[in-house]
This record gives sequence, C-alpha cells and structure tokens, in this order.
Amino acid sequence: MNHEALEDWSLRAMQALQDVCDEAQDAAGDPDGEDQCLDLRELMAEFEEMRQQDNVVSSSTWTCRVCGCTDDDCRQCIERTGEPCYWVEEDLCSACEAQPNNGSVG
Ligand SMILES: [Zn+2]
Ligand SMILES: [Zn+2]
Repeated sequence: MNHEALEDWSLRAMQALQDVCDEAQDAAGDPDGEDQCLDLRELMAEFEEMRQQDNVVSSSTWTCRVCGCTDDDCRQCIERTGEPCYWVEEDLCSACEAQPNNGSVG
C-alpha cells in the first residue's frame, strides 16, 4: 500500500474519531465531566505516538558542511569545544555554529 495514502487515511480516521469524542462529550452535556470516549482517546494517543516515532528524522547520515563530522565521528568537535556537538541544521553542527568561519587563516 502507498504509504502516503495510508498516512492520509489515518489522519482522516483520527479526525473522525476526534469528532466522535467531541460529539459524545457534547451529548453528555458536561464538557468538563467524565471522558465519554476514553478508549478512543487512548487509541488516538497511541497513533500520535507511533506517527511521531515514524517521523523522527534519522540524523545518522548527516555530515557537517564545515568540519565534516558525523554522529559516528565527532572527535574533532570534542577536541575543539570540549563537548560533543549536536545538529543545528541538517549539515551544520553546533561546534561550527559557535565558531563561525571569520576568515582568519593561518
Ligand atoms: Zn561542524
Ligand atoms: Zn561534531
């Protein structure tokens, strides 16, 4: 199955469930009262969690455009700044952001 179609369907299904929950809450006449659709809300929370995990972008293949460090090899940043870098952009590490190239060569 097409992943995008699946994702699209899931989002619409979750929206529909959300509507059902809201309507049930309205019908109960007590918006702040006991949750009418606890099971459904748990399902939706579960879905959100899975989706977020699915969307976590793997940074393991990123390479800094300045120093060339990667998640696997960041020793030069640790030597330079005393601590491992993190990603500021997809191709720029925090060590290089903190020390912008100011053109002082030599
Ligand atoms: Zn860098
Ligand atoms: Zn680094």
